[in-house]
Amino acid sequence: MNNLRIPPGIRVFNSIKDFRQWRRQILLDRQTLGYVPTMGALHRGHLALVSEAKKACDHVALTIFVNPAQFAPNEDLGTYPRTLQADLDALAQHFDRATVLVPQVAEMYPSGIEPDVTKQVGPFVEVKGFSHQLEGTTRPHFFRGVATVVSKFLNIVEPEQVYFGQKDVQQCVVIQRMIRDMHFNVHMNICPTVRESDGLAMSSRNTYLTPIQRKYALVLYNALKLMQEMYENTTKHAPTLVAAATELVNKTQQEAQAECEIKLDYISIASPSTLNEVTDDIKDGCIMSGAVYVGKTRLIDNLMLDVKL
Ligand code: AMP
Repeated sequence: MNNLRIPPGIRVFNSIKDFRQWRRQILLDRQTLGYVPTMGALHRGHLALVSEAKKACDHVALTIFVNPAQFAPNEDLGTYPRTLQADLDALAQHFDRATVLVPQVAEMYPSGIEPDVTKQVGPFVEVKGFSHQLEGTTRPHFFRGVATVVSKFLNIVEPEQVYFGQKDVQQCVVIQRMIRDMHFNVHMNICPTVRESDGLAMSSRNTYLTPIQRKYALVLYNALKLMQEMYENTTKHAPTLVAAATELVNKTQQEAQAECEIKLDYISIASPSTLNEVTDDIKDGCIMSGAVYVGKTRLIDNLMLDVKL
């Protein structure tokens, strides 16, 4: 933080109090604020959210905060890419101005934040019914961490508009419910997944991939596209589609064996309204999603078919 070069047009706040002062003036000036929550290591996916916010609002704020509450003790909290200088430079390169709040963990979690959920103290937000399946199977406390930090940030930033990426589709469903049911006074926008030229969904975690792993990282997108293609042309029977996608991942796993380890976590076809698995023919659209380990890196992706959140 000390040696940070703040590029022209970029305003950085480290304290919530200072940020709020800036935010209050925007309100007094009768101008609007769009907000993009991030964990940093910004890529074109994040920048697309900022672009959308810029189109709709007078001012745009981001938060860059690697949220400990959404990492399990065995996950990558310690190694998650932290690239604040590059993030600020990227913002300055793409936008004439932007405001970034980079708070400290201690200020965000005044009661502390233990890695072990059973030892945690303080308020936490849970969105029941939408957090235990899909991503929640492998990451049971993940959405509790996400909903909690997003609640805190919505209270701090008080934006008119907030922007999320479809890349994290279950997160979108969870936050949509939370905003609605907790009466947060903000409009939620969900923006399309930004992909590399070969189709790989952009993710801060893609930087973990070795060149060989990067080659195989498309396996999940290919499996999702296969299901989409079958859905459009041959069958709408969800279990048949999931079986075909699973087979494709298994085949790739065998091909890759000598070079890199691939492990399927899940492939799912779920109802957008409940996030429960479709067990028969897909009738009212669906969310096709999945997670695959390529080496140690866990990649997620999804396609929404005939449905909008
Ligand atoms: P993260 O920094 O990973 O927590 O992501 C911050 C926001 O950026 C979330 O709303 C993500 O869904 C969104 N995001 C991440 N990757 C992409 C992408 N490839 N395309 C669009 N949005 C994305």
